[in-house]
Amino acid sequence: MTTLLRSVRRVPLDGEPTEPVDVVLAFGRIAAIGTGVDEEGAAVEECDGRWISPGLWDEHTHFEQWAQTALRVDTAGTTDPSQACRRVADHIASLDGPPDALVVGFGHRMSSWSREPSTVELDAVSGAHPVILMAGDAHSGWLNTTAQRMYGVSFDGICREGDWFALMPRVSDDPHDLADARLRRIRELFALGVVGLVDLVMDDHLGPWQRLAAEGVTLPRVDIGVFPSTLDEVIAAGLRTGDPLPGGDGLLRMGSLKIIADGSLSSLTAARRDADGAVSGHFAYTLDELVDMQSRARAHGLTVATHAIGDASLSQVLDAYEASGATGTIEHAQLVDRTEISRILRLGLPLSVQPWHLVDDWRAMDELWPGRCDDAFPFRSLLDAGVSLRLGSDAPVAPLDPWRAMAAAVHRNTPDLESWHPEERITATEAFRASVRTRVAVGQPADVILLDANPLEPLGDSASTASHLVGTTVSATYVAGRRTY
Ligand SMILES: [Zn+2]
Repeated sequence: MTTLLRSVRRVPLDGEPTEPVDVVLAFGRIAAIGTGVDEEGAAVEECDGRWISPGLWDEHTHFEQWAQTALRVDTAGTTDPSQACRRVADHIASLDGPPDALVVGFGHRMSSWSREPSTVELDAVSGAHPVILMAGDAHSGWLNTTAQRMYGVSFDGICREGDWFALMPRVSDDPHDLADARLRRIRELFALGVVGLVDLVMDDHLGPWQRLAAEGVTLPRVDIGVFPSTLDEVIAAGLRTGDPLPGGDGLLRMGSLKIIADGSLSSLTAARRDADGAVSGHFAYTLDELVDMQSRARAHGLTVATHAIGDASLSQVLDAYEASGATGTIEHAQLVDRTEISRILRLGLPLSVQPWHLVDDWRAMDELWPGRCDDAFPFRSLLDAGVSLRLGSDAPVAPLDPWRAMAAAVHRNTPDLESWHPEERITATEAFRASVRTRVAVGQPADVILLDANPLEPLGDSASTASHLVGTTVSATYVAGRRTY
């Protein structure tokens, strides 16, 4: 299948000339770029000077959980438990199913609520429905009495950490609804211009994507990462990073081993140094354990994606990479000690970062990391030093939307608010380069998107640049030369 995109302008990621050209997609690659190209038998798309760029990647997602959130009452952005109750009440009023169907919400942050919630107030709006509201960081849940009875648990208010991690996997969705939600989410991805994901999968790592492929669903590219609990299985199957996975039509590939080395910011468990050097937080493993897992992965041809949110965790993780010789990425890196930048460079480790966390968490960071916020998400300093950044969302913790991630890196807040630590802003071009893996050039994969405007158009200030990025409309998405949107 050959497609001729007639009259497109290249988004100048590397200073490409912007006068209109024709682009030919054939056999999954960009086969030709020129003017007045004539391609026998090609399907011709008249593009009328629209903009073409490489398709976007989200370098850190949990797709299955992201699909599940499509079935949830959205409690994100609430600042008070009664606001969340109101959303539950509205949702229940809109239901036409059985009066005792399970209602699940997702998205609020306990650190954004002005007070602790009670079971009674949730009971008051839920009628006969069991109701569970999951916090957006996945570390706690709020259940009404009917839901507590259903799961055989009992407490007032919020269920946290260990108790919650035991309960959360028992909250299951109707399989038909979930199958629908997956398809909807994939369509949303293509509508945003996303052509590829890094998906980090807790268990049944290959299952969902291979099943979707077997059903003939049009898929994006997915690099599937696994957790230590499935490392043996992956090694036994002889899978190495980059290997195509059976049935995936070349789109599904084996990704990295994912290791979570510390906690998180909003649960106060990130391993960090405070202003006077004292270390606090949670280290999930000893250095020896990290080295051991990384070495096994390396010996079997797997790269390693290691989660390190706090700076103390980052130092431990760098020690581990140094000792194991493993390659891969560091995930999150929310707090970076400047003295470690040279080691990051020497080890050649890209940082896979999620700028939208900054928008959600800057208030909490000011409070929880006093005197250390100069080192929080220091994108400008990292790029200036030569560190390579890859942008992602960590969906469902943040929305799976690379445009918003780029905007957050550019303005370091939502456009209506002041930039937070503006000295660490990066440009739209830098953010865009960190959100793609390819270029619009002959021989590159035909993973391209058409846009109604140039997202890199120079604008006066970072707030308008961020708004312009988020307002960019994708009019077509191609994955391996196939039109998916
Ligand atoms: Zn994650």
